[in-house]
Amino acid sequence: MSCLFCRIASGEIPASKVYEDTDVLAFNDINPQAPLHVLVIPKQHIATTNDLTEADEALVGKLVRTAAALAAQKGYADRGYRAVFNCNAEAGQTVFHIHLHLLAGRSLGWPPG
Ligand code: AMP
Ligand code: ZN
Repeated sequence: MSCLFCRIASGEIPASKVYEDTDVLAFNDINPQAPLHVLVIPKQHIATTNDLTEADEALVGKLVRTAAALAAQKGYADRGYRAVFNCNAEAGQTVFHIHLHLLAGRSLGWPPG
């Protein structure tokens, strides 16, 4: 198993976990870009958002709702937060196992760089 996030999901590589259930895992980004920077991933391997199918719709909804719940739990629901998937090279995707970045705690610029 060569995928970094599959190895984190299986527990083979440690991560600073903030939430886990049977389908999803959330952990702190190792190189945080905001005071709160959590990655929410499916435990199952899906390389990019281009690879999602209709069968994944509930799972993707769960990723988004988990990010929203964590943002609320950390006190950012009203202040605001950003949840983003990077897909492929021009968007800066470096780990090819889908992950929802949850960013909060500072004013986030728009458009993104
Ligand atoms: P992306 O560039 O969208 O593919 O995001 C990959 C993210 O994974 C980056 O924000 C990295 O800082 C983060 N990352 C890489 N390795 C680890 C790790 N071992 N634990 C936690 N986050 C990681
Ligand atoms: Zn994977």
